[in-house]
Amino acid sequence: MSDSIKYLLDESKIPKFWYNIAADLPVPLPPALHPGTQQPLGPDDLAPLFPLSLIQQEVSTEREIEIPEPVREIYRQWRPAPLFRARRLERVLDTPAKIYYKYEGVSPAGSHKPNTAVPQAFYNKEAGIKKLTTETGAGQWGSSLAFAGALFGIDVQVFMVRVSYDQKPYRRALMETYGARCIASPSNETQSGRTILAQRADHPGSLGIAISEAVELAAQRDDTKYALGSVLNHVLLHQTVVGIEAMQQMEMAGDYPDVIVACTGGGSNFGGIVFPFLGAQLRGGKKVRIVAIEPSACPSLTRGKYAYDFGDTAHLTPLTKMHTLGSTFTPPGFHAGGLRYHGMAPLVSHIKELGLIEARAYHQIACFEAGVQFARAEGILPAPEANHAVRGAIDEALKCKQEGVSRTILFNLCGHGHFDMQAYIDYFGGKLKDLDYDESELAMALAGLPSMRAA
Ligand SMILES: *Cc1c(COP(=O)(O)O)cnc(C)c1O
Repeated sequence: MSDSIKYLLDESKIPKFWYNIAADLPVPLPPALHPGTQQPLGPDDLAPLFPLSLIQQEVSTEREIEIPEPVREIYRQWRPAPLFRARRLERVLDTPAKIYYKYEGVSPAGSHKPNTAVPQAFYNKEAGIKKLTTETGAGQWGSSLAFAGALFGIDVQVFMVRVSYDQKPYRRALMETYGARCIASPSNETQSGRTILAQRADHPGSLGIAISEAVELAAQRDDTKYALGSVLNHVLLHQTVVGIEAMQQMEMAGDYPDVIVACTGGGSNFGGIVFPFLGAQLRGGKKVRIVAIEPSACPSLTRGKYAYDFGDTAHLTPLTKMHTLGSTFTPPGFHAGGLRYHGMAPLVSHIKELGLIEARAYHQIACFEAGVQFARAEGILPAPEANHAVRGAIDEALKCKQEGVSRTILFNLCGHGHFDMQAYIDYFGGKLKDLDYDESELAMALAGLPSMRAA
């Protein structure tokens, strides 16, 4: 057996429930707070932005939440997603480790993002919403929500971070193909955007700014809501289809992971693959080592502060407790645009504080090296974000070789890189640089964290 081996589940095995890790946490998640009163948020505070069904999921502590049948119907187009044993990569690395990867690039948008875009569009449609606003970094989320909006007949307006808008015209074209409107952020269409442009006309943008623009528009209209592609509890909840399927597929393979590796931007593909396994561990099952990989240029988990902060630059969002680089932090324009967020999902931050996961930061050139090695062995070309997970998994496999032990490694190959070929061209042309963030800017952004009144 020398080829990659694919573990495929029957369509009937598409999960019927999402898994909510809030039910199994040894310590409850610190609540989101109202930015004015600093009191825990009530459902009314979020109502201008999200439909009630999603607000309920955001605060739910039920272990299982049913996936609506119309959502499962749409999932069926690409789910269950395949799980592969990377035998050829193992051979190239000459490692005793077994490497498995769950491949989420089979969705129409090419990443894990439609797993939450589809239910979010579904619940908004049910609530009578006509239009959704959102932000996008690399364009993966914007194209996923554009796809979901097209299915449910909802208008989608996407604020795309300026650097990515310029770097990735094909992602924009895909959004427009699905019928969405895509605007470079910071833009002149919102007060938040105009304020930033007045300070710096050539601002490269950031997810924090794009979120402010999208939230500002959604809050102004009753028929318009806002959708977020990562970070929030309900987004991570929807992504658990990935891990639930992976558990069934590992069982088909007669194996169980010793180590799980995933990249982290806002934490959604990580939470998606990790939470079902971590939940099993918390309920008394086998212990797994869990490693989050983030870019050195935007290292919220490894260099950020665990503190209450805003999700956006203009401070329109609630305060959540998370690992943050500060909401005004602008990371340099490196190629994994989906990993350029200043904060980390509160759920992922919380389990990091509880010591249940590890985190490592990598520079981008080492990640592209790993991605190219993976593509040459396995044939799939990973997204620049996913290259971080590939690097982490390869390093775990090389450690096994060094120690002369076999371990089972599972990683999330969260998307393909077919829209990111300029990044690969730059890599092959020797033009990629290992960028570091500006230390003084980080210090300034952290100094600007909201001051919390004593509880
Ligand atoms: C959006 C995206 C990410 C980063 O977001 P997470 O919420 O951390 O998963 C990573 N990889 C791909 C392919 C993405 O589209």
